[in-house]
Amino acid sequence: MFLENRGTYLECYENIRNLLLRYPLNILSIYLCCMGSSNRAYLHPVHGRTNLHLTRKSTVTKVLIDRITNRAIGVEFVKNKQTIRVFAKNEVILCAGAIRSPQLLMLSGIGPAKHLTDLGINVIRDAPVGENLIDHITFFGLTFTTNAAVGYQLFDLINPFNSHISDFLINRMGKVYDSGREWDKYSLTNGWTVLPILLKPKSRGRITLLANDVNVKPEIVPNYFDDPDDVRTMIAGIRTALSIGQTKTMQAFDSKLLNITYTECNNYEYDSDAYWECAIRMLSTTLYHYCGTCKMGPSGDPTGSSEN
Ligand SMILES: Cc1cc2nc3c(=O)[nH]c(=O)nc-3n(C[C@H](O)[C@H](O)[C@H](O)COP(=O)(O)OP(=O)(O)OC[C@H]3O[C@@H](n4cnc5c(N)ncnc54)[C@H](O)[C@@H]3O)c2cc1C
Repeated sequence: MFLENRGTYLECYENIRNLLLRYPLNILSIYLCCMGSSNRAYLHPVHGRTNLHLTRKSTVTKVLIDRITNRAIGVEFVKNKQTIRVFAKNEVILCAGAIRSPQLLMLSGIGPAKHLTDLGINVIRDAPVGENLIDHITFFGLTFTTNAAVGYQLFDLINPFNSHISDFLINRMGKVYDSGREWDKYSLTNGWTVLPILLKPKSRGRITLLANDVNVKPEIVPNYFDDPDDVRTMIAGIRTALSIGQTKTMQAFDSKLLNITYTECNNYEYDSDAYWECAIRMLSTTLYHYCGTCKMGPSGDPTGSSEN
């Protein structure tokens, strides 16, 4: 399929990607709503404790730090337009995720000194907060078709008249729970997709503040494929996936790569490393596994945001 322009391509990509993502996200939602969540796992079992206080609809604006001891002593948050301060007896645990945690630390004065000074934030500690952003970058461009009509259809998965779905919806039990084995029988499908993922990327991105204001979202610079080794590793993953498509088993189903030739990559010889580098820069995206932006390390570790 040749796509004439970038707009058409992006629209097509969105459609393909949404289609590919729909199935796993459906199942994920099932897991999240019925099998587990932070609320169910951590709060339900201890909801009767008198030393646990939870405040909802509250936005933390900064971590309070004692300027003499340089220790975190509490947090300031806004609830119902009111600014409230709470103080800790022992310690403050900051767990606002890999994007908001560094934002809060920087707003509290812990971060790259120049960056904070530029935004008018008093520097309490010069530290590489927001640096070292790591993610599981994933290539979404490897879908193969097969000629055998032995696969499951999306409708089968969600059709409430199927016993495994009704059993799950009514009784919260049945085959859907045992996804490892029970879905195996659907594994011979009309198509299959491999998602090569960089599990240990060398590239590092960063989170930076755009304003001295918790309500202004920080900038995310993922810097994917900045390190050439990441490009090489991803291409190696693609070639492994292609070789799987060539196996006797896959060929028995006339397995063929859904060869979408991206206009942006037309200048490169198809299947050359340069072509795949172009393709991965076009069609890779996040798995939302951000981490590393407030790295704890021993004192003396220049990449550590705080001491562990
Ligand atoms: C679409 C998607 C799918 C994923 N799928 C998987 C998966 O299948 N398996 C897996 O292992 N991981 C998955 N992940 C990754 C996983 O969700 C994260 O790694 C994990 O949730 C990170 O946990 P955390 O506690 O560090 O941060 P979060 O879960 O992001 O929690 C941070 C919390 O802090 C709150 N917060 C932030 N700022 C403030 C503030 N200023 N004041 C008050 N509260 C604040 C946020 O509202 C949030 O509740 C997925 C992520 C996404 C987005």
